[in-house]
Amino acid sequence: MKIPISVAEGDGIGPEIMRATLHVLREAGAPLEIHNVEIGEKVYLKGIATGMDPKMWDIIRHTKAFLKAPITTPQGGGFKSLNVTIRTTLGLYANVRPCVSYFPFVDTKHPEMDVVIVRENEEDLYAGIEYRQTPDVCSSLKIISRAGSEKIIRYAFEYARRRGRKKVTCFTKDNIMKFSDGLFHKVFDEIAQSYPDILNEHWIVDIGAAKLADTPEVFDVIVMPNLYGDILSDVAAQIAGSVGLAGSANIGETGSMFEAIHGSAPRRAGQNVANPSGLLLAAVQMLDHVGQPELASKIHNSWLCTLEEGIHTYDIYKEGVSKKKVGTQEFAEAVVKNLNKIPQTLKSAVYQGTVPSLAHKHVHTNPSRHLTGVDVFIYFRGRVEEFFSKISHINVGALHLKMISNRGVKVWPQGHPETYCIEQWRCRFLSDNGKTVSQNDLIQILHAFDHVSMDVIKSEFLYTFDGKPGYSSAEG
Ligand code: NAD
Repeated sequence: MKIPISVAEGDGIGPEIMRATLHVLREAGAPLEIHNVEIGEKVYLKGIATGMDPKMWDIIRHTKAFLKAPITTPQGGGFKSLNVTIRTTLGLYANVRPCVSYFPFVDTKHPEMDVVIVRENEEDLYAGIEYRQTPDVCSSLKIISRAGSEKIIRYAFEYARRRGRKKVTCFTKDNIMKFSDGLFHKVFDEIAQSYPDILNEHWIVDIGAAKLADTPEVFDVIVMPNLYGDILSDVAAQIAGSVGLAGSANIGETGSMFEAIHGSAPRRAGQNVANPSGLLLAAVQMLDHVGQPELASKIHNSWLCTLEEGIHTYDIYKEGVSKKKVGTQEFAEAVVKNLNKIPQTLKSAVYQGTVPSLAHKHVHTNPSRHLTGVDVFIYFRGRVEEFFSKISHINVGALHLKMISNRGVKVWPQGHPETYCIEQWRCRFLSDNGKTVSQNDLIQILHAFDHVSMDVIKSEFLYTFDGKPGYSSAEG
């Protein structure tokens, strides 16, 4: 029985590295039935903003996995990221990126490195909810949910347990983003309790990133929100040897997609020089995922043997370390020649079947929630005194103006003259003594702004949860 998979050859170096990868899979006897999917630059340029004809979804849905080469997103506005669209549409919430050192065969400053980055794939700033609020101010919405955090964090612990790993580290910036990253961290601490056999720790992402770049061997599995994961998995792959060496799996409850972590490297396209290893290792993860762990081990080991032989593409070639510089196709041929061999120095790969996505067991929390105010964002070019004089009289029922801030810094009452103000202002109205107000009260506030011809660009309703404010303060 052949296993149906979808394959997209992508753009730039994509077709070359896909050809090389499929050659190795075929020669290794992978029982695959390939369904081609056209995506990427050609499709974008036909005027399809997502980079994929909607008919392709059915092909992807009816196959067991999707092996995707990198694509080029054309420059200019109006094009949506196809990768983000595929991951979010198919619910592929977990992005798993092993970043391993192959020392002494591939030059690296970190010979002991063996890190797996588990990146959240559906939330954070990647929701792509962005606004140009005034001529000169833009904003993006960062979304972190309990459900999204639970799924990815549980997956990371499950991955660690099944792969015999010892520790899961969480990176966030919850000292600044106390609500969004704070929720991710809180859920991490909660879920860690169910895995007493796995060590757990949390790092603030900036110092965590510095430590990862300097001493990656102290990390094992690292779980993080989408943006940090995107950036740091490239850093991790690069310091392990090359971005061209790392593959990644995107796992969901019903679908999966496998790809190299790098992009389409257009400058290298058509020259038969690109390293196919990232896509090949992604294909190996795919074989494990579709129930072919022995085949996955066999191909991975033949690839390790090829590294050991010093047969290297330009990106990892180093005088004195490498033996022969080869092109994309020649590298694939060398891997094929090594099928059935076991590496002598590097740790051999043993796959044992994929880490399945757990059916999501999210339980909603039910704190008591009360509407107690509103933040009204205004477009105004001028000084705070001018602005304040226009709105200081606005009160509706129990709601009073409590604070005006600019870029999160309080400028009234008792602002500081040094604070630099831009044309986006936030006016906070809160009820006296946390009294619950109605949505209509808040709409009356917006009417009052309209009355004095203030330019409202956004409002955000303010709630308390179990009596605690569900919004950041702006003191300082
Ligand atoms: P890139 O990863 O394509 O290339 C950066 C550099 O890394 C290249 O110039 C090359 O020196 C090196 N490199 C990358 N892959 C390599 C390989 N397999 N072998 C040898 N060297 C390799 O990043 P970029 O230049 O920022 O992006 C180029 C295009 O790729 C853009 O259009 C971008 O949108 C797209 N992209 C696609 C994906 C994807 O489809 N998953 C991911 C990232 C970027």
